[in-house]
Amino acid sequence: MFTTAINHGLVVDTRQKKCRRLHIGLQGSKIAVVSETPLQGERTIDASGYYVSPGFIDVHGHIDGAPYPAELAVCQGVTTTVGGNCGYSPENLGGFFDEQEKRGFPIHQAMLVGHGNPLRHAVGVDDPYARANRRQMDQMAALAEEALLQGACGISFGLDYVPGCDIEEVTTLAKVAAKHNRICPVHTRLLTEGDLYSLFEIIKVAEETGAHMLISHFVYQYCEGLTKDALRMVDKARGRGLPIHIDSGMYTNWATYFDTATFSYENICHNHWKWEQMVVATGPYTGQVMDEALFFHMKEVCPHESVIFFEGQEQEVYDCLVKDYAMPSSDAGSYEKGQGHPQIAGSFPRYFRKMVREEKLLSLEEAVYKATLLPASVFGFAGKGCIEPGMDADLTVFSLEEICDRADYPHLGEPDAKPLGIPYVFVDGACAVDAGEYQSCRSGKIIRKQEK
Ligand SMILES: [Zn+2]
Repeated sequence: MFTTAINHGLVVDTRQKKCRRLHIGLQGSKIAVVSETPLQGERTIDASGYYVSPGFIDVHGHIDGAPYPAELAVCQGVTTTVGGNCGYSPENLGGFFDEQEKRGFPIHQAMLVGHGNPLRHAVGVDDPYARANRRQMDQMAALAEEALLQGACGISFGLDYVPGCDIEEVTTLAKVAAKHNRICPVHTRLLTEGDLYSLFEIIKVAEETGAHMLISHFVYQYCEGLTKDALRMVDKARGRGLPIHIDSGMYTNWATYFDTATFSYENICHNHWKWEQMVVATGPYTGQVMDEALFFHMKEVCPHESVIFFEGQEQEVYDCLVKDYAMPSSDAGSYEKGQGHPQIAGSFPRYFRKMVREEKLLSLEEAVYKATLLPASVFGFAGKGCIEPGMDADLTVFSLEEICDRADYPHLGEPDAKPLGIPYVFVDGACAVDAGEYQSCRSGKIIRKQEK
């Protein structure tokens, strides 16, 4: 008798990119059997009319141990999140891992170590406009190596937030990642909006170090007309054999903290951004469209809130995500209920609704592969991304006809409205979404990367 049997679903084979009507038996936290005949479990679920996919892996998020965004993630079918992105991770990763394992978490978490904080901070380069000297770079490299040995899955960069960082600093750390066969996700510079130097430098780092580079939320970096040229650069670099992947969300309008270099008055003027392109995402002014008076008031009173910047065309999202080296991601942050960006609740349902059902840009099987086995291989998450005996029992059951994001921007609707069409999600064998309802499970584990 299995712990859970999931019968009659169309099971997605992510290796062959095919679907078959099969029956799955879970035993504890593992997939025990995939069978041609229906199975019996302590609990038996009839998945007729639904696809059964490996749980989605969200390669770019900022959930970092916060339970509410994890609840929103699992309701989207996400069973693993990669945190510590854009150069920001918890200060003491070892302590974070221990604490999370003790408490348990709704989904699995893999973590990157952040270049901006803790690394730059730890060696005394707190000014984002300052350049680290050679000694500080070497100290950062030693600390990064320590974090990788503790199980961090890579080193993240948020170069837009540290304009003073030069390519030598990135290269120094990328060499450490390459040595340990880990990835370097990079939020590239937007301070040079209008040119592609930011991409050129990352390609250069890949070339010089051999490190596997992942360009984060690609459409957020290059929408507003640069996407096609930027993708062509990545195509060419990959054509030369460089290890580069990208991830992208389903929205072109990005959000970040107000007190970053990105939203400095100088940068706004430099890029000719208009106030009406900005909407406050969190805090007392949630949903308000920016103007000059509100800008200076917020800088004074609540600089730590998030602001959404509106730009780009939806076509640019599609251009990114049809690439075979692109993976869907959410960029989900940790916000209060009723606040934030719709990406926290809508990204993956929107990906299937738009890319597969409406625009027909990806087959269902290809779309599932890009959200499961592709990220599992890029990050080296053993046991994830496939529905086979012995693999982790992370599963998402959804209807392609019904899957639908309901989240919207804070001035238009509810940013954290949960989606429709995903009745069951299993995390490590536990039913975390049951008949469409979130269950307060804590079956998510910390994924500690091991040395090979
Ligand atoms: Zn970012």
